[in-house]
Amino acid sequence: VSVHRDTVLYAGVDIGGTNTRVGFVSENGTIVVDTAFETMAHDPVEGFVRRLASAVQEMCGAFPSRTVVRGVGVAAPAANPRTGGLEDPANFAWGNVPLVALLEDALELPVSLLNDGDAAVLGEVRYGVARGMRDVVVITLGTGLGAGIMVNGALLQGAHGAAGEVGHTTLVPGGRMCGCGQRGCAEAYVSAPGLIRTTLELLAERHETSALRDVPSQDLQAHIIAHHAAKGDPVALAALTATGTHLGRVLVNVIQVFDPEAVVLCGGLVKAGAPLIDHAFSTVHEIVPARYGEKVRLLVSSLNSGEAAILGATSAMRDSRLRPNGIAARAGNE
Ligand SMILES: [Zn+2]
Repeated sequence: VSVHRDTVLYAGVDIGGTNTRVGFVSENGTIVVDTAFETMAHDPVEGFVRRLASAVQEMCGAFPSRTVVRGVGVAAPAANPRTGGLEDPANFAWGNVPLVALLEDALELPVSLLNDGDAAVLGEVRYGVARGMRDVVVITLGTGLGAGIMVNGALLQGAHGAAGEVGHTTLVPGGRMCGCGQRGCAEAYVSAPGLIRTTLELLAERHETSALRDVPSQDLQAHIIAHHAAKGDPVALAALTATGTHLGRVLVNVIQVFDPEAVVLCGGLVKAGAPLIDHAFSTVHEIVPARYGEKVRLLVSSLNSGEAAILGATSAMRDSRLRPNGIAARAGNE
């Protein structure tokens, strides 16, 4: 008599300001299938919930029989794991949203919610370049700038579930308007939209020829800037360098406050590559005293964009030892 065991999967969802990624993860932490769709963060959340539900159901429909999906771990910005809600995330028009309740109704599966930075640090510590570390800061660089902070092996969530919002610390007093309503936040400079704003300012200020002058400003994207920087375009290089220097200052503040074993950079903007990352790391080495700075490892994630958050969100749901207190789930999440 042969005994067939069910294949157990968990769905992980990484909600970003631009794209949302969905991955199904096996019990040993392998992403067996994934997809992505546009978040459309400026449209009502109800449409997003419908598109996510149909993506999940379409993927489930392709699984062989005896595949069991146990639940959905979601990583999102401004997520409060204690309430299961999003609290007016910057760059989204959703306001305060009871996301766990909306998704459980639409998916008919237990749903747990983590802040995207917290999910990323869990993913890196369990499956990525920070494997086994206990004091780590993961910086997520994309449409926004966030962080996940692990202190002595535990997630730092703060008294209100809002720790790690490095993107909304002040980098340039009186500087650019940020999506959160304040001026001079780090995220207004160190993010894909921040890089684009810096590039447009440099194009206006400087007179060198640049291939970027042929790109209509509304079509300018981070990957286009990175592409031209790699070909030696001076304005593209200057924009990445300036963004890297700003990021370096953010990393210095994080290192001075938390004294981590490592800082890990992950997210879509990390693909902008060498000039941005090199200048961030060299800024850290210039500012942090050498004897101390050399002890803190500066790392770039080895996982693809969104993978760390998907792995972290599903591992938090699966592993109660890693799950912080009070992740909201209404049923079945033992
Ligand atoms: Zn802000």
